[in-house]
Amino acid sequence: MVEAKNMCMRYNKCGDNALEDISFFIDRGEFVFFVGSSGAGKSTLLKLVIRELRPTEGELKVFGRDVGRLPRHRLPYLRRNIGMVFQDFRLIEERTAYDNVAFAMMVTGATRSEIRKRVPHVLGLVGLQDKAGARICDLSGGEQQRAGLARAIANRPAMIIADEPTGNLDPGTTLDIMNLLRSINLRGTTVLVATHNRDIVDRFKKRVLYLENGRLVGDEQKGIYTHVH
Ligand code: ADP
Repeated sequence: MVEAKNMCMRYNKCGDNALEDISFFIDRGEFVFFVGSSGAGKSTLLKLVIRELRPTEGELKVFGRDVGRLPRHRLPYLRRNIGMVFQDFRLIEERTAYDNVAFAMMVTGATRSEIRKRVPHVLGLVGLQDKAGARICDLSGGEQQRAGLARAIANRPAMIIADEPTGNLDPGTTLDIMNLLRSINLRGTTVLVATHNRDIVDRFKKRVLYLENGRLVGDEQKGIYTHVH
């Protein structure tokens, strides 16, 4: 589902590599944490997967396609199949939870009747059935991230990518959101999470890819946060 082969990423011609000789394979249906300190390259890696960036060297395949060489007209297909979840939610604050999910479906060409059926369903999946009509700015941080998850799964993506999804949340809410991501994964969606959150990584016992200064220094099934060299 995601395969990197000797991938390097450099932002500036004369700068250092943000990612250096990265190779890994992530299968359909996996749940993977990317961990590493700030600046290790986690966000860069996720941006490569969604083709916000292109590898400078090497190859990155997503859904079997070399995304570095993907023509522009194939990008909507790639992005429709990936649901994004952000640390700062990136929702439309003045609009309702319902509208935020509905907009995400509208831009991919869903019909009105699909939207009317699907939005209440996904809001229910994340426990927001009673807040569909509430504006995002009137919701708590945890509720906003639930809305973010609902939006991410609205188009039934094959993969969810979450960059520090719990970075702005308290520990209890963090656990709720991670449990939701796990249940989304159990329904068959591949989930990639970049995080600093040691407690969560240790508790969930999922595969962990360790980044350090742009290098992949470890890859453990049922890993814990701290990589032992
Ligand atoms: P992380 O997500 O693990 O904190 P990043 O992927 O954001 O790490 O950063 C990896 C490296 O790439 C860092 O050295 C960072 O300074 C550099 N970097 C990130 N974004 C840019 C950018 N837009 N331009 C230049 N360098 C960048």
